[in-house]
Amino acid sequence: MPHLIGVAEAQALVLDGVAPLATEIIPLLDALGRVLAEDIVADADIPPFRNSAMDGYAVRAADLAGARRGTPVRLHVTAEGPAGYAPRGMVMPGTAIRIMTGAPLPPGADTVVRFEDTDETGRPAGSTRPEVEIYVEQPAWVNVREAGEDIRAGALVLRAGTVLHPPALGILASLGRLTATVYGRPSVAILSTGDEVAYPGATLRPGQIRDSNSYTLAALVRHYGGVPRLLGIARDSAADLTSALAAACAADLVLTSGGVSVGDYDMVKDVLRTQGAIRLWQVRMKPGRPLAFGRLGGKPFLGLPGNPVAAYVSFELFARPLILLFQGHQEWRKAIIRARLTEDVENQSGRQHYVRAIVTQGPAGPLVRPAHEQGAGILTSVLHANGLLIVPEGVTNAAAGTLVDVEPLHWLPGLLGLP
Ligand code: AMP
Ligand code: MG
Repeated sequence: MPHLIGVAEAQALVLDGVAPLATEIIPLLDALGRVLAEDIVADADIPPFRNSAMDGYAVRAADLAGARRGTPVRLHVTAEGPAGYAPRGMVMPGTAIRIMTGAPLPPGADTVVRFEDTDETGRPAGSTRPEVEIYVEQPAWVNVREAGEDIRAGALVLRAGTVLHPPALGILASLGRLTATVYGRPSVAILSTGDEVAYPGATLRPGQIRDSNSYTLAALVRHYGGVPRLLGIARDSAADLTSALAAACAADLVLTSGGVSVGDYDMVKDVLRTQGAIRLWQVRMKPGRPLAFGRLGGKPFLGLPGNPVAAYVSFELFARPLILLFQGHQEWRKAIIRARLTEDVENQSGRQHYVRAIVTQGPAGPLVRPAHEQGAGILTSVLHANGLLIVPEGVTNAAAGTLVDVEPLHWLPGLLGLP
């Protein structure tokens, strides 16, 4: 009889000793979602120079004393300061330079008065007058962005282990980095098993069903950053399984579905036992009780159950963390949503029940209800779900109105902020 084991214990055993894959250097535009494998230290200030935060007039704050709408201060306009050019001229007492957002602050100026606080409005576009009327008094350094106020030269900006999400990519670009060193993506071999399982393009013979697991698993692998390699479908025979698995060891991780239960033709476990090392568990979870884990040709493999929903949930719980750790993610646990149940949910299984569920935003926080169908073979239960509502193994009834834990489906780390 296989060993009976809880979900957390099974996860710990599967993930024990897993290390990130070798690093590679990739273009920034391909790096979304990858995990940085180097510390990034700024080699220059961002912004690189002191510049204007507004379209307006670069002036000396001391010249603005007493300025108001009724009693404006008049300054002599000596030059234009567009963005993208070195300053043209210097601001002397009693003068101003007309300046655009992002243009370097000219020497002599210490503040920028925005157009709205001058007689600029009403002036024909592009025309310069020799004088400007300023309507406000303001201290030095207003509307001025300091060199290095975003990032200082020498600062550690991004640590190895950071998920490269959109702002991280923008920061790398602003530092002049066109590439990033990231951890590799695991290649994941996927093998479906079963005499009844047919290729989706084939005409079904009596008793056959189409292989959906290869497609859901390949999509999940890709979604979580891995590279799927489909090995096709193996018959329930030791010879067929052995030859199908021969190609699997080139991958970083091997996934099979089906054939790990207690049926007469559940051959996967026997073949893996002779080809590699296997631990077969009955995980106290529903759906997806049987799970095989082991090594084949030095590579980890997970023998997932064949039922499509059981395979799906087992993937989220066991394969997903492996795929994330291979890529250097430091956090593989999902952020749990605490949501209020809107219907009673039964759990007579004695196992931790992962109920396919629909989370919505209610007036006072998240609400959750089970998707209508729940059978382990009913893939449409996942189709309509966006989360897995967890009813712990000791709980037989979760009552409407109580708060429950929900694991979001298809959740990627790093999106709620940097780890
Ligand atoms: P098994 O774990 O091999 O006993 O399979 C359990 C159930 O899942 C059976 O009803 C199988 O027909 C079904 N099944 C197994 N593999 C697949 C697959 N690749 N696609 C769809 N259903 C499958
Ligand atoms: Mg089978």
